[in-house]
Amino acid sequence: MEPHDLNMAAQPCRWCGGTGRSNELHRRYAPGTCRACAGAGTVLVYLPASACPGCGGTGVHGIRDPVYGSVPCHDCSGTGWSFFMHRFDGDGV
Ligand SMILES: [Zn+2]
Ligand SMILES: [Zn+2]
Repeated sequence: MEPHDLNMAAQPCRWCGGTGRSNELHRRYAPGTCRACAGAGTVLVYLPASACPGCGGTGVHGIRDPVYGSVPCHDCSGTGWSFFMHRFDGDGV
C-alpha cells in the first residue's frame, strides 16, 4: 500500500527539522538518529494534516526541562503532528 492509499502524506518532522538527526537544541537524546522520525526526517501524517495542539506544531513540550533543556511533546512524541504513524517499534518517548 502506498501512503496515499491510506490517506496519509509525509510531513517534515519538527523535532529534527527534517534532518533526521537529533540536534543540540534538543538534548533529550544523544546526538544521532532522530527518535521522533527514526531518522527519516519526515513522518507519515493522516490527512488532512493537522498540527499537534499540545505543542502548536513545534514538537517541543511547552515546559523546559532543567536538565535537557527541551523535551518532546508528550502528545505527538516530538513530531509536531496529530495522528501520525509511528515508523518504528520502540519504547516511545
Ligand atoms: Zn525527526
Ligand atoms: Zn505535540
